[in-house]
Amino acid sequence: MSGRLSVVGIGPGGPDQLTGEARDAIAGARQFFGYAPYLDRLELEAGQVRHGSDNHQELARASAALDMAAEGHDVAMISGGDPGVFAMAAAVCEAIENGPPHWRALDVVIVPGITAMLAVAARVGAPLGHDFCALSLSDNLKPWTIIEKRLEACAGAGLVLALYNPVSKARPWQLGRAFEILRRVLAPETLVIFGRAVGRPEERIRIAPLREADASLADMATCVIIGSTETRLIDRPGRPPLVYSPRSSPRPSK
Ligand code: SAH
Repeated sequence: MSGRLSVVGIGPGGPDQLTGEARDAIAGARQFFGYAPYLDRLELEAGQVRHGSDNHQELARASAALDMAAEGHDVAMISGGDPGVFAMAAAVCEAIENGPPHWRALDVVIVPGITAMLAVAARVGAPLGHDFCALSLSDNLKPWTIIEKRLEACAGAGLVLALYNPVSKARPWQLGRAFEILRRVLAPETLVIFGRAVGRPEERIRIAPLREADASLADMATCVIIGSTETRLIDRPGRPPLVYSPRSSPRPSK
């Protein structure tokens, strides 16, 4: 079978955050699938065909792309950030696992990208400098009770948390509820970073202590990083502060 499906991460924002490998994969593909606003970020040439789709249609989109690759086309599935982080690479794997046997013989390539939490972290310093985890606050694909358990367990274990999908029109209360849960396990001065639309013209970074963290500071283009008890802020004259998580944790006293 000669077709190929490349699942390509295009980074969080502008073309300067696209890797060389992603650029090559895009140049080599002819048929482009993905959420329409991601496809809008590409400068496609004549002969490169768009198949834009709405959000929440991941499996149908993956299946359509696999069908086209099985017909022998060079197909790219475009994801924002990294395709393996709350994005299309897992949807493509699910479709292959549950789909017709001939999809398993296809050439499938996953091309990584800069994921949102790394771009946000880089703007403020090194808040992910020690152990951390990433959680999606979306309860579209998992029950909210699991999200609450994970928030409490991960924050309680001293991990820095990167929260993806913090709010949307259909999910207006989840981030506020997450802050309530985190206030039970973390000190009020724990640092919270709101990184919105990083790498795009409408980028905005806010840093607040957990006691003042307000869900209205986030929208669906925001990645929220919650520090651990060890995450610190360095004030600097005439420059924005640096936020970082030290590389070492204190040893427990015997
Ligand atoms: N695959 C993507 C994540 C998709 S989930 C990645 O690796 O980044 C969508 C969520 O990603 C958004 O709700 C937001 O939390 C985050 N996000 C995507 N782009 C962002 C950006 N430019 N700045 C901040 N957060 C972003």
